[in-house]
Amino acid sequence: MAKTAVVVDKEYLKHQPGASHPERPERVQVLLDLAESLDGAKFQLLPPLAAKRADIEATHGKDHVKLIESTAQHNRFALDGDTITCRDSYGVSLLAVGGFLRVLDALAAQECRNGFALVRPPGHHALRDRAMGFCLFNTMAIGAEYLKRNHGAKKILIMDWDVHHGNGTQDAFYDDPSVLFISTHQYPYYPGSGAAKEVGSGAGEGFTINIPLPAGCADPEYAQAFHDIVVPAAEKFAPDWILVSAGFDPHRRDPLGGMGVSDAGFAYMAQRLLGLADKFTAGKIAFLLEGGYDLAGLRGSVSAVLETMQPGAAPASDAPKLSDSQIAPLIRHIQQLHERYR
Ligand SMILES: [Zn+2]
Repeated sequence: MAKTAVVVDKEYLKHQPGASHPERPERVQVLLDLAESLDGAKFQLLPPLAAKRADIEATHGKDHVKLIESTAQHNRFALDGDTITCRDSYGVSLLAVGGFLRVLDALAAQECRNGFALVRPPGHHALRDRAMGFCLFNTMAIGAEYLKRNHGAKKILIMDWDVHHGNGTQDAFYDDPSVLFISTHQYPYYPGSGAAKEVGSGAGEGFTINIPLPAGCADPEYAQAFHDIVVPAAEKFAPDWILVSAGFDPHRRDPLGGMGVSDAGFAYMAQRLLGLADKFTAGKIAFLLEGGYDLAGLRGSVSAVLETMQPGAAPASDAPKLSDSQIAPLIRHIQQLHERYR
């Protein structure tokens, strides 16, 4: 039986943004420890290869790639106030992108049933010509572009559940109807974008769905957002690939996020997406680590998601215990905004 592909590697420890920086090597160390405990009958560890420049330049401008490359000549380089590199960061970021592409290749070749790239630095804030928010290259956007160019993907669903809005990914596909981008995020919050009214433009109008949640949301609110918006929109879109920007900073323990999601809450979201993958994509679904800054929360949540990726994992209920809470008016507002695209 095909296994779940997992990419995680000691090389990812080498990106050092500074001693007190939350996006620190220990994040990957706990995942390396987790990987050692995984059952080899269920999980296939894949070594990452460095991404090719051409794959990165399909998403980023040449000058941006040159700038990131040039950081390898400096012990420390500040791309912005909180996006800091060391001499190894460029090489590590090539391996982060390459790790995700490795998972996508394994799924396309049907070597593995599904996959999770446990890489750093994260990517979803990186814009075409600008690093930001701990992100150098937009690994998710590069991956989606790679699927279109190399594996014939026609309709890609990108679900971004990081607590921060995935502005870089949204930007990359804002006018592109072949990518449905859906984001749940804390709002208002960094980076400031991700209002419900941001719905895409041109041919891509209606193919960006933002679910800007108030601080304090937890498993019931996320379940409601998935039940009422994410799953119906995905079913209507009928993707041939599903990619997940899995940030674990909505975790209740996270020092940066203001949400209350539990390990089981992340597993629930993963289960709903895995169900969509079974239905539409012949199981092709790849998860990519974005944020998540509490080490215990990160390890526990990643472990819970990996368990749900196994055959026979208990399916998520179609009727979760829904919150009839504070977010009901927001959900209705988003549904009304997107009504015209149905
Ligand atoms: Zn984040």
